[in-house]
Amino acid sequence: MLEVSPATPPPVGGPRKLPPRRIGRIGQEGGPTLICVGGLHGNEPPGFLALHRVFLRLQSDPRGLLGRLVGLTGNRKALVQTDRFLDEDLNRIWTDERLARVRQGVDASVAEEDELLELSDALDRELSRCPGARVLDLHSTSGDGPPFTTLDDTLANRVFAFALPVPHVLGLEEELAGTMIEYLNGRGITAIGFESGQHLDPVSVDRAEAAVWIAMEACGVLARGARPEVAEARRLLSRTGRTRPEVVEVRHRHSVDPGDGFVMLPGWKSFQPISAGEVLARAELGPIASPRNGMILMPLYQDQGDDGFFVIRPVNRAWLSISAWARRLRMDRYAHWLPGVRRHPEEVGVLLVDRKKARWLALQVFHLLGFRRRRSSGAQLEMVRREAP
Ligand SMILES: [Zn+2]
Repeated sequence: MLEVSPATPPPVGGPRKLPPRRIGRIGQEGGPTLICVGGLHGNEPPGFLALHRVFLRLQSDPRGLLGRLVGLTGNRKALVQTDRFLDEDLNRIWTDERLARVRQGVDASVAEEDELLELSDALDRELSRCPGARVLDLHSTSGDGPPFTTLDDTLANRVFAFALPVPHVLGLEEELAGTMIEYLNGRGITAIGFESGQHLDPVSVDRAEAAVWIAMEACGVLARGARPEVAEARRLLSRTGRTRPEVVEVRHRHSVDPGDGFVMLPGWKSFQPISAGEVLARAELGPIASPRNGMILMPLYQDQGDDGFFVIRPVNRAWLSISAWARRLRMDRYAHWLPGVRRHPEEVGVLLVDRKKARWLALQVFHLLGFRRRRSSGAQLEMVRREAP
């Protein structure tokens, strides 16, 4: 049974009036499901616009649909004003505590609490209809650069993300708290982000659309080889992504506070090589240099947001294979035998690492075994297993 909910025509440059929470839903009940979110940041219309295009195309020609595509709007109010957010960043408040609080009653003075409640309800509804659904969160950046995915390094996320012929960025989740993707991953849902390019560049809409077509086929929402749009999408994305390293990890985040007077020097593009000591930005306290060699990611060229820039470096493909092998063998079961490492007395899947005794153990060893760092302070490091066995 084909179920179509009509999508409104794509607005030019973003919506003028408050858009509906659901951009569209099309396809078969009971089949594989892909849920896409566009405009979680209100100054990032490409994903929102791309979803309208895909729904319009599928409505007139539903060929090859085996499952269901759902499109949801992120920060509706901020999209109308083309601001990243109005009161609080909607992609930094997805914590269990905050969600429990807004479910008790939203604070009307924070525009995003309403958005958080509605969007999490909409996601829950779709996920309860299809528990195996995967989520693609569509974003864009203030600086220039090629498209890429962002993912918490679970094996399921890897399979999903690696279907897209672009570079893949690991480790952002250890730097950013309260993202929607982190929340969904924490509940065992396969969910990744896609960054399509600069906010107002028309090619960013084309790339976001391409990511949706490829993701639909990768999830089994579309029959393999049934749609020419998927092959076209692969050509478009691989044209910009091929010359970059395939997988990178975040090694540093430069955090910006409102009073810093942070100004990025002009001309930096994501994936551009940088050296330790190279000046990247200026602030009231003086020049800001890169603390290490690598490549720059997401230099900040807008007023809102507190991520000044990230420094990334390539990840060896062999390391990815070894870590997949270590996780399939469930080597995490023996991690607490390492000196300075013990199991959390109450929480399953959490290790407590004495930084002094286990200094020789690089964070990388835990990454390899499928753990991620949980924000913690003092001499103790908390490592959390990314996915249930
Ligand atoms: Zn964003």
